[in-house]
Amino acid sequence: MTSVADEVAAIFAAKGESAYYGEDVSQLEHALQAAQCALRDHATEALVVAALVHDIGHLVEGAPEDIADQGVDARHEEVGQAWLAARFCKEVYEPAHLHVAAKRYLCATDAEYLGKLSAASVQSLALQGGPMSAEEQAAFRANPHFAEAVRLRRYDEQAKVKGLATPPVAHFMAAVARCLKPLNA
Ligand code: FE
Repeated sequence: MTSVADEVAAIFAAKGESAYYGEDVSQLEHALQAAQCALRDHATEALVVAALVHDIGHLVEGAPEDIADQGVDARHEEVGQAWLAARFCKEVYEPAHLHVAAKRYLCATDAEYLGKLSAASVQSLALQGGPMSAEEQAAFRANPHFAEAVRLRRYDEQAKVKGLATPPVAHFMAAVARCLKPLNA
């Protein structure tokens, strides 16, 4: 049986070279840079894994059986959510699922964050619903995965550096294997 770590490694090997929308890095470089940011920030192992796989929805969109089974549309965080929730513990998939909400939250609450957004990220903000209203911010803060989602979003923003050296995918596979969905869940 193929392990989840094998699946993740195979997806990055097959599609990781595809472009990260509007940025100077590939999907694989972006994933590895985000995971490296989490390691350097002494994040939990689950958040390191979440950083590695947070955009995997972009790479598994070609997997129609998953999409049909889950009845989700093509928005990448929803596709990613279905794929991740079937495989990982919630400490991985919840922050990953919330990474777009966390961007909308930070844009509403942190002027410095907003000022540092890349051009492509500013452009997609409007499509994602723009900065959160005060009501949305309060609801988001009440989410048990709020803090980890915001941390992940900051790694995401830092993970767009052309040519930055990172560990390879293999470096993170033991952590992936330790953050799987519990058997009884
Ligand atoms: Fe990302």
